[in-house]
Amino acid sequence: MANTPVINSQRLRALLDGVNTFGRNPQTGGFNRVGYSDADMAVRNWFLEQMRADGLTVHRDPVANLFGRYGPADGPCIMAGSHLDTVPEGGAFDGALGVCVALECVRAMKDAGFTPTTAIEVVATAEEEGRFGGMLGSQTIAGLVTGQWLDEARDADGIRLAAAMGDQGLNVREALDAARPPRDVKAFLELHIEQGPVLEQAGIPVGIADSVAGVINLAVSLVGRANHSGTTPMALRADAFAGLSAVGHAVPDVIAQHGGERSRITIGKVALQPNFIHTVPGRADFIINIRDTDPGTMAALALAMEQAVRDAAQVNGLSFSIEEQSRMEPVRLDGALVSLLNGEAGQLGLKALTMPSGAGHDAQTMQTLCPSGLIFVPSHNGVSHAPEEWTDWEAIEKGAQLMLSALIRLSGSVATK
Ligand SMILES: [Zn+2]
Repeated sequence: MANTPVINSQRLRALLDGVNTFGRNPQTGGFNRVGYSDADMAVRNWFLEQMRADGLTVHRDPVANLFGRYGPADGPCIMAGSHLDTVPEGGAFDGALGVCVALECVRAMKDAGFTPTTAIEVVATAEEEGRFGGMLGSQTIAGLVTGQWLDEARDADGIRLAAAMGDQGLNVREALDAARPPRDVKAFLELHIEQGPVLEQAGIPVGIADSVAGVINLAVSLVGRANHSGTTPMALRADAFAGLSAVGHAVPDVIAQHGGERSRITIGKVALQPNFIHTVPGRADFIINIRDTDPGTMAALALAMEQAVRDAAQVNGLSFSIEEQSRMEPVRLDGALVSLLNGEAGQLGLKALTMPSGAGHDAQTMQTLCPSGLIFVPSHNGVSHAPEEWTDWEAIEKGAQLMLSALIRLSGSVATK
């Protein structure tokens, strides 16, 4: 009689430690496995060998996504995983944890003699963090990459994607032929750290994302008159910063009138000119970053912020321009998977919170290919993309156990020994 598969926390931790021997900066404690760097490629070679040693059928695709297949060689699969690349000086958990949890789930099933009826593929995606725009790996799997993007993508130093991949022996154009047909992938599941404070504050170990917030970035310029800060009377100024601060002041009202609990508006990047102590600012350039999980709400928030800019310009005697710099629509993750994950959490006696994802993830890209689900575990103090990133192992074990239960359910795994 086979045992019920259980997560081996010790083994999972050792696997994550193994991943994190790559790209560690001993000075800062941060991790540097930026997409297509030497450390990124080295960790991929290492991880592929771990999966091979576990008896999985392994494959590296043209953009360096890794796949390790367990179960039937033919037919569709359930895919599970996340990304192995990091931001510069990133933390130990972002991405890597989800990849390791997926492999640990397969190891636990093998230990207990469980064989899936539908194959499970562990996936470690490439370039999720955005050196070249982000989610290149999952977009390749989902068939969303275009020749134009592949040709034009450059990193912040001006290095072309084609050159960075070429240096690692990869041919960028092959990405166009690397999509997986929809019939190949029945579902995708990702476990990821929350990267926000909600779960920890609520004292709940596991989150189940039902949606991923969209993002609109409005690039705004307010133009007035730079002048002496001592000789220009207050009433005779055209102060660009006064306009900017009025726009910032309008944010809570805009959300109260047009948004909701899932709305976020941030002015995080500003540039004043001439930016000098003794000069009334003549120009303010800033970005209004607007996020929500509902497309209509997000659009209404953007319109209201544009009106706030017009009002602030008028009151302060400024001219203005507003340009929509980028727009990414919100994504609704698969409702049936949200229910399935909640059901499995209930069976495990786990308290779980259904919640939106404020950050972008591979799961949102994969949702365009197949039903996709996203499990969150708490981030201590909500910190991420920093060496201080931390999740308690007790919560990780619970999230991993939920992933394992969902994979057993979805793959129709049965005890064979
Ligand atoms: Zn991530």
